[in-house]
Amino acid sequence: MNILFFGPNGSGKGTQGAIVQKKYHIPHVESGVIFRDNISRGTELGKKAKGYIDRGELVPDEITIPMILDRLKEPDCAEGWLLDGFPRNVNQARKLDEALKAAGLGLNYVIEIVLDRKLAKDRIMGRRLCVNDNNHPNNVFIEAIKPAEKGGKQVCRVCGGELKTRSDDQDETAIDKRHAIYYSTQDGTLAAVNYFKDQARKGKGELRIIELDGRPGVKEVSEELLKKLGIKE
Ligand code: AMP
Repeated sequence: MNILFFGPNGSGKGTQGAIVQKKYHIPHVESGVIFRDNISRGTELGKKAKGYIDRGELVPDEITIPMILDRLKEPDCAEGWLLDGFPRNVNQARKLDEALKAAGLGLNYVIEIVLDRKLAKDRIMGRRLCVNDNNHPNNVFIEAIKPAEKGGKQVCRVCGGELKTRSDDQDETAIDKRHAIYYSTQDGTLAAVNYFKDQARKGKGELRIIELDGRPGVKEVSEELLKKLGIKE
């Protein structure tokens, strides 16, 4: 099962992706997480990527594309994957498509969470990251996933772990830049989504597109998603 997951920063994409990943038991490959992991470990890749990420820019394709294509070749991806945060522009979409075709692989689903730009921005500012597990969603502005409190401090609602904000989440200029990239139908991420929608139209029916309204709460969106995937809870 090979799945691409799209949604603007702030749409709950990571949260919904984690739910799907658990249902299918496939790895959740998140480009942003791979970058942040490399930055915190001080690797060469992390050093190269940090400046772009802090400014809200895309890390150049020469770095990002091989990083992701190599990751998808790792043994845990043999039965499929859920790719999240990649592709983010048409060039990345094309390169992924070509690499999959060359490997005799295809896509099963493209999932798109649709959310208005303003709402997405508000949600980003409330996001908190659990230091123990990236798949533990917390957001101070979303009732369903509000952090817990311990000793007057906000902690992860799932495991009680320490919470952090991402530096790029609190920087409005960077958020606007990231959204400008996402919402661009010229060469941004929506252009990449449209690339795959075109493929689905032209294809023989193996690639299915799932569009989700990102406005309701986490639970409603995930119910809609699982229903559209034909998965019973
Ligand atoms: P995310 O966690 O998906 O919001 O990603 C955080 C940051 O990592 C982005 O703002 C980019 O700077 C970088 N990044 C993540 N995925 C990509 C990608 N596919 N292409 C280029 N840069 C990326």
